[in-house]
Amino acid sequence: MKAQDISREKSAELFEKAKKYFPGGVNSPVRAFKSVYGTPLFIERGDKAHLWDADGNEFIDFCCSWGPLILGHNNPEIREAVQAQLSKGLSFGAPTALENELAELIISNNKYVEKIRFVSSGTEAVMSAIRLARGYTKRDKIVKFEGCYHGHSDSLLVKAGSGLVTFGETSSAGVPKAFADETIVIGLNDKAALEQVFVDFKDQIAAVIIEGVPANNGLLIQDKEYIQFLRDITTANGSLLIFDEVITGFRLGFEGAAKYYDIQPDILTYGKIIGGGMPVGAYGASSEIMGHISPDGGVYQAGTLSGNPVAMAAGIAALSILAQPGFYEKQEQTTLAFVEEIRAFITEKNLEVKIFTIGSIFWFAFTSLEKIQSADQIDPASMEKYKIMHRELLNRGIYFGPSGYEVGFISSAHTAEDLQTAIAAIKEALLVAFS
Ligand code: PMP
Repeated sequence: MKAQDISREKSAELFEKAKKYFPGGVNSPVRAFKSVYGTPLFIERGDKAHLWDADGNEFIDFCCSWGPLILGHNNPEIREAVQAQLSKGLSFGAPTALENELAELIISNNKYVEKIRFVSSGTEAVMSAIRLARGYTKRDKIVKFEGCYHGHSDSLLVKAGSGLVTFGETSSAGVPKAFADETIVIGLNDKAALEQVFVDFKDQIAAVIIEGVPANNGLLIQDKEYIQFLRDITTANGSLLIFDEVITGFRLGFEGAAKYYDIQPDILTYGKIIGGGMPVGAYGASSEIMGHISPDGGVYQAGTLSGNPVAMAAGIAALSILAQPGFYEKQEQTTLAFVEEIRAFITEKNLEVKIFTIGSIFWFAFTSLEKIQSADQIDPASMEKYKIMHRELLNRGIYFGPSGYEVGFISSAHTAEDLQTAIAAIKEALLVAFS
């Protein structure tokens, strides 16, 4: 049965005000709730797996700030580390021991990177990785896959997922044609297309970039064999392979998708979880490749707030918890049990919806297909069902991301009770979506 709409009076008031200040009333497009019902909810606070909005509504949060909050909101260790650093200073623009400490935590637990560089967002990490690949290979073109989102730098906003696909667009205005021409976009899981690209643009491809596990245009889990093919074809052609692990890094484990596939990419990018909820990104590679970054090499990349001490303190606290034995196994088991219980209901009721999952990531796909591995397999019309489910979930105190193309996350702060409450709500919401 349709649930009664929650009150959004205060959120709506704040949104009206925000529209005076920001385009669309927001500082990042998907937040505007344009593809779901109602105005965006203005959030006041979060604790563990729960969120409270300006109207006092309480939700169990499965968006988790789009991925960073693998430990939930207001984690005491992260909070205390941040508070301790606050009294020592917010930013110095000079090296600190904290940067060493976070780097050590990452590198000693990750065999895929030898050196890293900290930046302040996922966008910056990937933009810098692309520049490094171009500088290293002395080639200009890059290959990306339709639906993969790699942040909003010019080269990468061509046929990207995330907010672009949510709003029915594929590329951004304002990217010069000359830049877009250097980005070749092909479908995922299409070997022949990539083979053709390497014929058509022989010796011109600097890098092929893929999301560790594509998770910005639905969850498009690739077969290992295909990723191995990417590894082999790039090596054979003197191009680099970049894994964008902004979502999968520290989510599937410290070694992310590289470990999942057991494949060594040439450059890896990180973001989200690495900063424990503060703005941090990083890119890493072998010492040899990273030797091309300034001041050792000729590829310039810098940042006033790079390696910011408060952000480093948050990252150290977060990764210290994640490094404890069994953390990821438990997350995966919890997520699978959650998904299996909903799947059993879907089967019982014979609903045309699938849940794809990996690690502690899940995605509801309104499809009859057993596997979805490329963006073109998603029917945009199926998003209508997500829209209904999203509204029904909010009305039952469950917060999912405001787009059916985005994935959900489970944190270690989600209790068994939270998950049971959510399962009951999801079952009801699905029945409404299919009624
Ligand atoms: N790469 C991937 C795979 C992402 O999912 C995102 C953000 N969702 C980015 C890059 C960009 O990160 P940020 O939003 O921190 O700039």
